[in-house]
Amino acid sequence: MTTLQLAWTRDWIARFAAEVEAQVDALTELDRLVGDGDFGRNLRSAVRASLAAIVDDPPACPGDTFRRVSDAFLGTGGTSGPLLGLWFGRIAEVQGDEVGAAEFAAAVDTATRAVQRLGRAEVGHKTMVDAMVPAADALTRAARTSGDVAAALATARTAAEEGAESTRSLLARRGRASYVGGHARGVVDPGAQAIAMFFAAAAPDGAA
Ligand code: ADP
Ligand code: MG
Ligand code: MG
Repeated sequence: MTTLQLAWTRDWIARFAAEVEAQVDALTELDRLVGDGDFGRNLRSAVRASLAAIVDDPPACPGDTFRRVSDAFLGTGGTSGPLLGLWFGRIAEVQGDEVGAAEFAAAVDTATRAVQRLGRAEVGHKTMVDAMVPAADALTRAARTSGDVAAALATARTAAEEGAESTRSLLARRGRASYVGGHARGVVDPGAQAIAMFFAAAAPDGAA
């Protein structure tokens, strides 16, 4: 039965940051098509600040690590900065050196509800919430049946990727993408794509 520990959490954030660096142009292009084209840069500056904070002020546990990430996002521009800062801040409330699947699932669920309240976004509004909600639900289901964090995160990854893909056919109801109307159809929401990337980076080998 795996639990989430400090080294894994740090490596997870490092893999997420590396993936953001690799995908920054693709994310920017998505936001150019549905928004104002700054999402890749916003996300990159937040993950760079996260890594710098983890080096400057080494976290002692998984919760501390997510706290560094939260603070980095809260200091970043765009609509995504405060929303992801809030999300990671709630996830940062996980306690202790080893986090089990049930506790992690509960934290992601609370975090996702907080983002929904702040952004007034429901599933289907073509936002990051479209990937967060299925991931949180998958974590909760997996925690009930197995309790293994690695297995739970693998199901969350699939759910988040499917959730992100589901935004392709949607018309945006929140954020800048809601101003461009039908032009956003056929384009995946960049925020949802970033959440899928985050859960994909959880797997220790980073493999597909
Ligand atoms: P901005 O639109 O201010 O330039 P970003 O480009 O940093 O912000 O982030 C855009 C992303 O933020 C979108 O792809 C979407 O996922 C998310 N988003 C925008 N508005 C909302 C909202 N009200 N609720 C949830 N997510 C939102
Ligand atoms: Mg933008
Ligand atoms: Mg902007």
